[in-house]
Amino acid sequence: MSDVGSTGLDVEDVDLLVVGGGKAGKSLAMDRARAGWSVVMVERDKVGGTCINVACIPTKSLVGSARTLLSARHAARMGVAIDGDPSVSLEALRHHKESVVDGMVSSHESMFIASAMDFVLGTAGFIAPRTVEITTGDGRSRVVRGREVVINTGTVPAMPNLPGLADADVWTSETILQLESLPETMIVVGGGYVGCEFASMFAVFGTQVTLLQAGDQLLPREDPDISDAVADILTDQGVDVRLGARATGVHREPGHGEVAVTLDLGGEVGAQELLVATGRAPVTAELGLDAAGVRLTESGFVDVDDHLRTGAEHTWAAGDVAGSPQFTHASWNDFRILRENVTGGDAVTTGRLVPYTVFITPELARVGLTETEARAQGHGVKVANLPAASIPRAKTLHETVGMWKVVVDAETDQILGAALLGHDAGEVIAAVQMAMLGGLRYQKVRDAVITHPTMGEGLNLLFDTLGEART
Ligand SMILES: Cc1cc2nc3c(=O)[nH]c(=O)nc-3n(C[C@H](O)[C@H](O)[C@H](O)COP(=O)(O)OP(=O)(O)OC[C@H]3O[C@@H](n4cnc5c(N)ncnc54)[C@H](O)[C@@H]3O)c2cc1C
Repeated sequence: MSDVGSTGLDVEDVDLLVVGGGKAGKSLAMDRARAGWSVVMVERDKVGGTCINVACIPTKSLVGSARTLLSARHAARMGVAIDGDPSVSLEALRHHKESVVDGMVSSHESMFIASAMDFVLGTAGFIAPRTVEITTGDGRSRVVRGREVVINTGTVPAMPNLPGLADADVWTSETILQLESLPETMIVVGGGYVGCEFASMFAVFGTQVTLLQAGDQLLPREDPDISDAVADILTDQGVDVRLGARATGVHREPGHGEVAVTLDLGGEVGAQELLVATGRAPVTAELGLDAAGVRLTESGFVDVDDHLRTGAEHTWAAGDVAGSPQFTHASWNDFRILRENVTGGDAVTTGRLVPYTVFITPELARVGLTETEARAQGHGVKVANLPAASIPRAKTLHETVGMWKVVVDAETDQILGAALLGHDAGEVIAAVQMAMLGGLRYQKVRDAVITHPTMGEGLNLLFDTLGEART
């Protein structure tokens, strides 16, 4: 204890104070604790953060169930007989998801202990620069000041300002994961990646899903041809995809009757349950950031520069709350940048290539620029397209749905970006990413000897459609 703060509590001084135990924060806390720093990490309720508790890990566990169910339904075409109709039960799904999540939470607990950091389950709020007051579940308080401080408090589901929504007992991406029911009918509001993933998964499980998207395409960041192909896949899975369908109000009959959503074009849709998937809001409101001297951007995220520095001295932010791309791997890369910078380094976020995968079945994997973005940036482009059905491996598996697309700079032959929609695309995109990171001309990938028959081999075929002379 070094001195007494304005709260009357002793102030504990540590080398590193991490507020919020997300991917970047927990990784840095363990790393620095192992390096001998004194570290306090405060987490208000989710050991291991959002990803393992209520986001990537539980959803991908359930996407795995949906994928397995689809495979079982199509087993006959692979020459495998399955007696009866393959199906899922809510209880078994919940058990599967919880066993994965619980296993990861408990391995995090062990890793936190092994690192020798001081992991505090409590809520932190700043009371002065680099200084937080932590309130723990048992009502006790601690005041901790960090020589270095990292804010990694993440995001939570954003609720749109829709009349009636607050009283309609709707689901968010977090509450739906409690899996209290597998409804016969469900509306999903929001056609971004979270909305598409849940729509696909629940449709495969047997729910009749209506997906409402205000704009004129799903996944608005993607090229229209890719979004159209995604919409076709969801439609084939039984999802009623409604584009240009802006929700204007929500109403649920008392006593948990059906929920109804009114649309700006007129009319309404009804279902047993409603999932709201309209984006994520940064967790900053109760952090006391004014006291820390930390500013927010206009959209409410912590304002950081390309070194992840806030305006306050020795105070950093990382992950979703810092406006980084909202993916766990981006937050993990923020950790690497902070690991450099809190020890006097000079690492930056500028120019990093952040791929992502939308885990519908089959998946959409993306890296780099879309065709639309490349043209808007003034690139002359060559565009290659390949139906997934042309890939021998896809044929052997009867996994022929989807299309692959790559955008190449017409002058330099450098790969600018790719959208791979199809079986195991999330694995193959890493190869395209490596080629981009290595600055390879596309001909190098086209002419690489790739194992036959794999989905990766499709890259030879994809680039071959550009029809240039061999290198
Ligand atoms: C449904 C869904 C599916 C997703 N799927 C994927 C996917 O497949 N792949 C992918 O890469 N990304 C996915 N994401 C995004 C990914 O989950 C996030 O980008 C990632 O978890 C962000 O991590 P973070 O480091 O910003 O912090 P988080 O993991 O969000 O951690 C922040 C932590 O801070 C804590 N906290 C907040 N305030 C305080 C406070 N005052 N005091 C103490 N603690 C506090 C919170 O409890 C939380 O645990 C998904 C998101 C959702 C919603």
